[in-house]
Amino acid sequence: MQIAGSKELSEQVLNQDLCTVCGACVGLCPYFKVHKGKLAKIFDCDLEKGRCYAHCPKTDVDFEQLAQALFQQPYNGDPLGIYRRITAAKAGERTGTGDFQNGGTVSALMTCALESGMVDGAVLTDSDGLLPKPKLVTRAEDVVKCASTKYMATPAVSCLNEAATDGKTNLGFVGTACQLTGVAQMRLNPLEKSDFVDPIGLTVGLFCTWALDTRQLMDFLSTRVDLKTITGMDVPPPPAEVFIVKTGETVVEIPLDEIRELVPKGCGVCPDMTAEWADVSVGAFEGKSDWNTLIIRTEKGEQLVEKAVAEGYLVLDDFPAEGLEHLTLGAGNKKKRAKENVAKEEK
Ligand SMILES: Cc1cc2nc3c(=O)[nH]c(=O)nc-3n(C[C@H](O)[C@H](O)[C@H](O)COP(=O)(O)OP(=O)(O)OC[C@H]3O[C@@H](n4cnc5c(N)ncnc54)[C@H](O)[C@@H]3O)c2cc1C
Ligand code: SF4
Ligand code: SF4
Repeated sequence: MQIAGSKELSEQVLNQDLCTVCGACVGLCPYFKVHKGKLAKIFDCDLEKGRCYAHCPKTDVDFEQLAQALFQQPYNGDPLGIYRRITAAKAGERTGTGDFQNGGTVSALMTCALESGMVDGAVLTDSDGLLPKPKLVTRAEDVVKCASTKYMATPAVSCLNEAATDGKTNLGFVGTACQLTGVAQMRLNPLEKSDFVDPIGLTVGLFCTWALDTRQLMDFLSTRVDLKTITGMDVPPPPAEVFIVKTGETVVEIPLDEIRELVPKGCGVCPDMTAEWADVSVGAFEGKSDWNTLIIRTEKGEQLVEKAVAEGYLVLDDFPAEGLEHLTLGAGNKKKRAKENVAKEEK
């Protein structure tokens, strides 16, 4: 892994408009902050090597190094990443009810992990009005309160960095691919700090095709709906081609083409649709909106899923062959697009 400092982070990521506000460079030093969905660098530090650069998912990521560290095997370039098995899943009765985005699998897994002591806390994303808000949750019953997708880039890793600085360990983390890449790079202790302790107990990745720029989305929506009345958002699977905004009893449909204008440039060079650097990854299940696709990647992920099923937090079903084909195609296309966009950037 090539490591540089915050000057190079500015040159290669911030000034190129590639930042997706994952938060991996925030909470490590006083110089990076996030304000209302935007990253701000408030001081030019002159260290030659910094964790900000080393953890950032938008600098050069060494896939081979990550694959060896997390899966103890070579990187294979599979569109879905390294995994053990794929299944359909949804929350079981013991998880309780919540405003789940799909089947509630993420909430079910984290509730089980906290309840059983597999993790001592979990970094999730709640919301403050419309703004997504990373949150460290320590009580199992609070997990479902953070359910539902906030379709905006959110600095969740900053919350993990702050918890680690406070000495917290054995933490769960839920996040998108760029956030999980930042977390995976942090776990390598790239600056070889002698006092480094891995804060992670378990990671749950979210499938992601894009997230929206928070400020641009707020400005855009404020011209169409009263922001205070928004209760949820959704992107139904193709062929719908709409972004749905729920406001109390009504549902506002916005053509996806208009919404795509608000996607940060950094998402265009993101090769990872299924959050490959997680213990398990969860996404929508095409054709059944109250179920999830669940990819189990590590032994720890397998143990959690088995426990969650045995104790009634989670229900599984077979994953159809045509679903796997479609998912692989979608993830492969994202990798191809990212490669093309990187090549365009380099011209
Ligand atoms: C920005 C974004 C884009 C996505 N795009 C796709 C996609 O293209 N295809 C697909 O199949 N799935 C996508 N997903 C995942 C999907 O929306 C659901 O999160 C997933 O199916 C899990 O559903 P669930 O019912 O198990 O989640 P729930 O049980 O409702 O839990 C959702 C969890 O997501 C976390 N969360 C919410 N918003 C964010 C955020 N902005 N950043 C980090 N964590 C967050 C919360 O902490 C919560 O724990 C996306 C998610 C996000 C955040
Ligand atoms: S992508 Fe993440 S780590 Fe990189 S500059 Fe943006 S917030 Fe920092
Ligand atoms: S598309 Fe990639 S870079 Fe953009 S928010 Fe999703 S995981 Fe992050």
